[in-house]
Amino acid sequence: MYIKKQRLLTPGPTPLLPSALHAMMGSDIHHRTEDFRNLYKRVLANLKDILGTSNDVLVLVASGTGALEAAAQNFFSPGDEVLVCSAGKFGERWVEIARAWGLNATVLSAPYGDAVQPETVEQALAGNRNIKGVFAQASETSTGAQHDVKAMGHAVKKTDAIFVVDAITGIGTMPLEIEAWGLDVVIGGSQKAFMIPPGLAFLSISQKAWGSGEDSKSPRFYFDLKRERKNAATGESAWTPNTALLLAFDEALKYIQSLGPHKLVANAQLLAKATREAVTELGLELFSSAPGSSVTSVRAPRGMDSGVIVKEFRSRFNAIISNGQGSMKGQIFRLAHLGYFDFHDLFAIVAELEIILNANGHAVRFGSGVAAVQNAYADAALAKEAALTAG
Ligand SMILES: *Cc1c(COP(=O)(O)O)cnc(C)c1O
Repeated sequence: MYIKKQRLLTPGPTPLLPSALHAMMGSDIHHRTEDFRNLYKRVLANLKDILGTSNDVLVLVASGTGALEAAAQNFFSPGDEVLVCSAGKFGERWVEIARAWGLNATVLSAPYGDAVQPETVEQALAGNRNIKGVFAQASETSTGAQHDVKAMGHAVKKTDAIFVVDAITGIGTMPLEIEAWGLDVVIGGSQKAFMIPPGLAFLSISQKAWGSGEDSKSPRFYFDLKRERKNAATGESAWTPNTALLLAFDEALKYIQSLGPHKLVANAQLLAKATREAVTELGLELFSSAPGSSVTSVRAPRGMDSGVIVKEFRSRFNAIISNGQGSMKGQIFRLAHLGYFDFHDLFAIVAELEIILNANGHAVRFGSGVAAVQNAYADAALAKEAALTAG
């Protein structure tokens, strides 16, 4: 009936950067050549620069979960006592991974939507001197909550434990001062704020983490991080890399550098703020008590299954948004902000949401949510102009 362009609006995979997508067509290169070594060295250096760390940075061919597993495997031994902060589906994944590698995991949990408090971590560390590691999500994508990894890092720093942070949707959506905050292992993935398809994961690794891994007794082969580090120093990967994704990554990193890494964070934060204001204006409730800027989780109106909203975004507008996961399915829908999202996207998303809500018995005045986004945009634009005049 009408043209409907397909739009991917989920918190991973996220919309692709066109120049990165085009770069993938140049992947008829061999990975044991000077051309590749130059590409790989540049990617590692630019990634390190964007992460703002002098710690080692390694890239793996895997989805994000591969890097989570590599951390549990390379820095610990079976039987090691660890604390796992769990406030959602990804926290639960950390618990499963830790237990799969034989780690003795104590779970510090918070109800879905909430965050584990840094004091809880501090007390647990004080109560057990044998804790070797603390695992947490910077941003819990399943609920939209974020953890105070700065305060948690501060607590972990004072002990011999290492802090392993799944920042897969934290990077590019919140400030992360890797060294200052004591974030020993920071994990990211390609299909989130980095604007490229799934398939690459990466880690930054502190000296403290390497030290902790020194006597690790877990078996390993593919995810042998020391081997990967040795190869990376020569501009190569241990195994055949994903050349297409590395070409895309190279372009995306260049784009993020030209934008400024802090602007990528500010962009997500502003879109998240505008989204919160718009859905509140539409009479909807936020799901999380500690909302972050990677994704906003919104409760469906009483009596409406959130799946209806997700389905209608698809059927009416060919737009793909996320439902809740696990027991949150049917209760919430999630609007993403990380990576290549802009105000143009958000104006449309909120306008479409108004139509869908009205069509399903939750009456809203057309334009009221959109106006909230317009106000957020206008306020930010004015603030920017004022800063320019002052400067
Ligand atoms: C996406 C995501 C992951 C990784 O999932 P993969 O499907 O393995 O890439 C892990 N943690 C969080 C918080 C995520 O958002």
